[in-house]
Amino acid sequence: MKRLLLIFFALILTFFAAVAYANGEIPETHSHYICGKSDCTENHKGTVTWQAWNGDTAVGTVGDTSKTAIYLYLEKDITITSTLDIPNVTVYLCLNGKTLTIDNAGNPAVRVGKNQTFVLCDCKTGGKITGAKGSAQKDAVRFGAVNCQSGSQFVMYGGSISDNTVEGANGGGIFVNGGTFTMYGGSVNNNKAPNGSGGAISVENGKIDIYGGEMKDNSAINGGAIHIKGNTTGEIRNIKADNNAAAGGKNSMGGAIFTETSGIIKIYDVELSNNKAVSGGGVYLKFASNNIYAKIYNANIHHNSVTGNGGGIFLDGNDTNNPSTDIYDSKICDNDSGNNGGGIFATSGAMLNLYGGTISGNTCAVSGGGIRVASSTYIAVVNYKNPLYINGNKAVDGGGISTAANSLNIIGKCEIEGNTATNRGGGVYINRSSMFLLFNQATVTKNTATQGGGIYLNKDNTGNELEILGGTTIIGNTSSTDGSANNLYLNNGRMFQFRKGLTGTEKVGVSVSETPTFSEPVDIEYVFDEEWHDTAGDRSNLIIPDNDDYKVIYKNNKHWLILKPSLTLTADKISVSNLDKPATLYVASYGGDKLLDIETMPLSSIEKKSVDVSEIGLNTKGATKIAAFLWDSNMSSLCDSESAEIPTK
Ligand SMILES: [Zn+2]
Ligand SMILES: [Zn+2]
Repeated sequence: MKRLLLIFFALILTFFAAVAYANGEIPETHSHYICGKSDCTENHKGTVTWQAWNGDTAVGTVGDTSKTAIYLYLEKDITITSTLDIPNVTVYLCLNGKTLTIDNAGNPAVRVGKNQTFVLCDCKTGGKITGAKGSAQKDAVRFGAVNCQSGSQFVMYGGSISDNTVEGANGGGIFVNGGTFTMYGGSVNNNKAPNGSGGAISVENGKIDIYGGEMKDNSAINGGAIHIKGNTTGEIRNIKADNNAAAGGKNSMGGAIFTETSGIIKIYDVELSNNKAVSGGGVYLKFASNNIYAKIYNANIHHNSVTGNGGGIFLDGNDTNNPSTDIYDSKICDNDSGNNGGGIFATSGAMLNLYGGTISGNTCAVSGGGIRVASSTYIAVVNYKNPLYINGNKAVDGGGISTAANSLNIIGKCEIEGNTATNRGGGVYINRSSMFLLFNQATVTKNTATQGGGIYLNKDNTGNELEILGGTTIIGNTSSTDGSANNLYLNNGRMFQFRKGLTGTEKVGVSVSETPTFSEPVDIEYVFDEEWHDTAGDRSNLIIPDNDDYKVIYKNNKHWLILKPSLTLTADKISVSNLDKPATLYVASYGGDKLLDIETMPLSSIEKKSVDVSEIGLNTKGATKIAAFLWDSNMSSLCDSESAEIPTK
């Protein structure tokens, strides 16, 4: 009975509410916080009561200037034929799950006037601002679906700005000219600026602060989703930007994000995926003035692609002073480039500092599967709490890294593993360095290439050589031709240096493009800088020739690859080759397992010597086998022993 009564009263209440509303006397109560929530824990100054808006765009202009804010909500879908101008009052708009459409080609839905504020939320889901179309005629007060003038604030808590296409403009969804855009949530999807930059949003000489939200399916010539210009500063956090495109230009830049600002840019916790461009599939950072920097923290930049350079990230130093980018703990994975730099491409003086992170599974059609740093740039792997992993990337040259940078400083822990180059430098391809090439705490292993499975060193005769520091190992890399060991490949007379601070755990496999001969061994390591060079002298135990026919010696302050001594033996002739120091030849005869005789012959350093077995007085009567051994004065074997059967007569 009680239950029936409750239903009865509920019906009566609904009835009265409906009647009252139909008469227009008592508006439906619509109250919640300004962010759209009814239970907000942020400091959003309590719930407010929102007035239903009938679409009269004059509402944005108040006659009574003591009125500083109005709160509007859409009770139903509304189409407006003139822009909602906001010249002198703060407007809060709750979309209430409904759609606001502007039907006036070449004009925005909302224009936030100079120094004014517009706050957008959606207490339901699915609310949107849409309909901007036609050409804005390059008139900046007409760009975007929401147009923000200088000093204005546009705060977005929710709702969507979507399906707008504005020609002759920057900013398909939102344009900010000297104001601030702050986004806490909601989405800016499927907007287009086909003749400009910033499919979702373009901010010029202002500020962009994003704390969350989504931007997908937007497109523009540059900056498929976000374009940042002038002196704009920005912090972009926790946003998901998927399937945006920079297209239509010869060099369309920044599939998701394109910056060309003289301000500081910081990017945190973003996911940029499946975006496309000619250059910079995820992000294109172009430094517009001297001594500015960008920082990227914990980004996940994956499956972006470009036809040009920089599948994930493009750093354009623009030849400014100190255009540095610090990338912390980010994942740059599975991006693709049709040219150079599958994961990251840096050029024009860009300075790239990597703090941990993973660069894996990226591919490119030319050079630098993981990273390509072009000439005049700088790249460092910084000593940091987390290692940097560069794994499973692919290219023609430089599967993991391809560098022509002024310096490559691997200081922090870095694993370059399992990368592939179809031509040179499976792990790292080095074609130029004018300053430093440091490998400290680097592990280069399981990489493969036709030449230089680990590292291909083919660099200009400028600056310092490749320097190997403490804890570095370059071992376990292979040639894809035959699977043979191919670690550090020194092309065309290149050498390396052991720096001070070796721990004795270093291992460097070495191949050379020349063939050492007895008279001309190949020098592979030398002292070019006394102050920094390892002072232990002979470090030949740390160097492993990739070719088993070679060995490493230390002589005249250098390490050399020389041909190993070798023995050949037949029943009646013994030959010794490539003996680089005095040694003793031992020759023994056996009858079955029984030693019959042993004779010795001292030898001096010699390229090749052959003797007849009969000459050394070995008793071979009844012998079935003879064997030869080559030992140095410490009775240490200089090469494998050889044996020969004696044919029965
Ligand atoms: Zn709130
Ligand atoms: Zn609402």
